[in-house]
Amino acid sequence: MLGLRGRMALTALAAALGALVAVLLLLGPELHERALDQTRATLLAEARLMARVVAEPMARGVDGDALDALVDGAAREIRARATIVARDGRVVGDSALSGPELLAIDNHGTRPEVVEALERGVGTSVRTSTTVSRNLLYTAVPITHGGGTLGVARVALSMDGIEHEKAALERALLAAAALAFAIAAALTALLSAPLVGPLREIMAKAREFAAGHLDARIEVDRRDELGELARILNLSSERLRERLDENARDRARTDAILSAMEDGVLAVDARGVVVVANRALQEGLGLEDPTGRHYLEVIRQPEVGAVIEHVLRSGERRQEEVVLQRLGLVFALSGVAFPGPAGQAPGAVLTFHDVTERRRVDRIRRDFVANASHELRTPLTSIRGFVEALEDGAVDEPATAARFLGKIRTHADRMATLVEDLLELSRLESGQQAPQLETVPCAEVTEDVVASFAALAARKPVALACEDGGAPLVVTDGDRLRRILEALVDNALKYTPEGGHVVVRTRPGADGAAVVEVEDDGPGIPAEHLPRIFERFYRVDKARSRELGGTGLGLSIVKHLAEGMGASVAVSSDPGRGSRFAVTLPARPR
Ligand code: ADP
Repeated sequence: MLGLRGRMALTALAAALGALVAVLLLLGPELHERALDQTRATLLAEARLMARVVAEPMARGVDGDALDALVDGAAREIRARATIVARDGRVVGDSALSGPELLAIDNHGTRPEVVEALERGVGTSVRTSTTVSRNLLYTAVPITHGGGTLGVARVALSMDGIEHEKAALERALLAAAALAFAIAAALTALLSAPLVGPLREIMAKAREFAAGHLDARIEVDRRDELGELARILNLSSERLRERLDENARDRARTDAILSAMEDGVLAVDARGVVVVANRALQEGLGLEDPTGRHYLEVIRQPEVGAVIEHVLRSGERRQEEVVLQRLGLVFALSGVAFPGPAGQAPGAVLTFHDVTERRRVDRIRRDFVANASHELRTPLTSIRGFVEALEDGAVDEPATAARFLGKIRTHADRMATLVEDLLELSRLESGQQAPQLETVPCAEVTEDVVASFAALAARKPVALACEDGGAPLVVTDGDRLRRILEALVDNALKYTPEGGHVVVRTRPGADGAAVVEVEDDGPGIPAEHLPRIFERFYRVDKARSRELGGTGLGLSIVKHLAEGMGASVAVSSDPGRGSRFAVTLPARPR
């Protein structure tokens, strides 16, 4: 490819050549014409002279060789070929021919210059002479004498001279062209030299800009267009760098927001290819980084696909609650369209809000209200039944009335216990009761509790014993521990049949914790019920629990009491052989 200097040189050369060609085209024919005119005028004058020379002799009748000799003599003076043509067209004299040649020459009466001279007084013509076979310029004038026309005097000159003149002119023009080019080339080199260095510098830096090195600066300090170009390029790269920095900051901010979000965020482009999947989504759904893959490869749940497709198709917001079976989680999905790159269809952004816990709590609350109403309605219905029976006449039968009143009292007591337990649970759940922490010797609390149940155990009878396994002192709420143990021992005595055994054992646990276990050899709890017995109103055998005066809230209260002071309760059971409830009290609650 041609460089800048090459182009400049070429342009100068073209300009010089163009000018010369123009000169050649405009002046060439003009000069040629002028030379021709001049020659023609000279020849005409010579022809007139020749006519005058031969007029008188011809009038006298001089003819043949005498006339030809006259013509030859005169022609020598003018250095041109002279021909004398008689009125009838015969050539009677010619400076180039003589004797027999002259006699053999054909009639010249029809030569255009001869015809023209006779008709108009002057005749000229340029053509190839048949006599001498050269390109000649002819001029002819009539030979007159005494008012009559005797013939035509013609003078011819070879065009060679004119052609030579023309060729010489062309050579001169060519030489001028060469000179003009040399001057143009020299001027180009001279003028372009100071531009090349800065241009190279600008090009090198522009290349660096293109390669992303936006810190590069063009050091061209000039006041001309190059300087302006350098300044514009510097400014452009600076602006570009600012814009890129701003984009990077925006990106970092968006990334930070996305990764700080607790909700999962999934963005797909118009084709469904994942463009963003934040940390919460990847962790929550257990995904490897899905960016760049189609969403169908990543989330196979059809309901999620339906939301994405709806948003992509309609561009409208869509909200849906989806259960991800594989993970056992419930998500509130919200999908909106987001603008795609220029000229492309919009994509879709989905947020995954985990509502599993909220749904669970909602269900528990609903169940709780239903259960509580049900638990209260049962004794109430019984009470109303007995009251109606009394009103219907049973009141007049003292024995029956006393029995019915006893039943009413039992049910009323049950309702009171139930309401008491509900209030306790509600107090615990609301966090109103802060634990009273103190250093507690577990063995002492255990002994107290066992002692308080001794009479009840003896009545059943069930053997109730205490085992001190050397539990360390722990910081906990002694009163809560007592209430926990009372509930557990109460249950153990309730469910363990006569002749059974209940042991309350204290022992050291891991990391300085103390463990208090309540173990019985009663019916035990089937494994499938174990995970749920701490739930409110959950009972393995509803009828039996009611019969024994249970509310189904005891273990739930135990769990709340324990957790509220940083302790934990666990259960293990061997159905048919007994159950063991273990309360672990950390050395110091966290
Ligand atoms: P309840 O008032 O019915 O005793 P709890 O919440 O105290 O309610 O206990 C829930 C259920 O756990 C009981 O209904 C019972 O089926 C079972 N359970 C609790 N303790 C024992 C135990 N020591 N032996 C066998 N089953 C037990």
